[in-house]
Amino acid sequence: MADCIFCKILNGEIPSQKVYEDELVYAFRDINPAAPQHILIIPREHIAGANALEEKHKELVGHIILTAQKIARQEGFAEDGFRIVNNCGENAGQTVFHLHFHLLAGGKFDQMV
Ligand code: AMP
Repeated sequence: MADCIFCKILNGEIPSQKVYEDELVYAFRDINPAAPQHILIIPREHIAGANALEEKHKELVGHIILTAQKIARQEGFAEDGFRIVNNCGENAGQTVFHLHFHLLAGGKFDQMV
């Protein structure tokens, strides 16, 4: 998508701090961290958000969650704990309309739900 900032990160037009990549996903540090460790995991495929997911994306979503676990181990916070967040739509505060999962760690978080 031409005007999508995460697509521009994927094609290198916008710089990012890479944490992990494979054939399906790319992970990089959030530019405005909300926790000591704040990483975004995005699919290479442009999907607007969780509400645009289809049956065919089942494996991809599973892969993203397993990637979060892999990154947590790689970065050394798997045992201490981490949070995976997806904001979907305006009321949830989604600001970038390319599916992404926030991986947050490095401190004790308040209970949200
Ligand atoms: P959300 O509010 O759930 O849509 O999350 C979008 C996230 O993308 C926010 O946490 C932003 O700080 C982050 N973000 C926006 N632009 C960039 C960028 N160029 N590099 C890294 N993170 C970004």
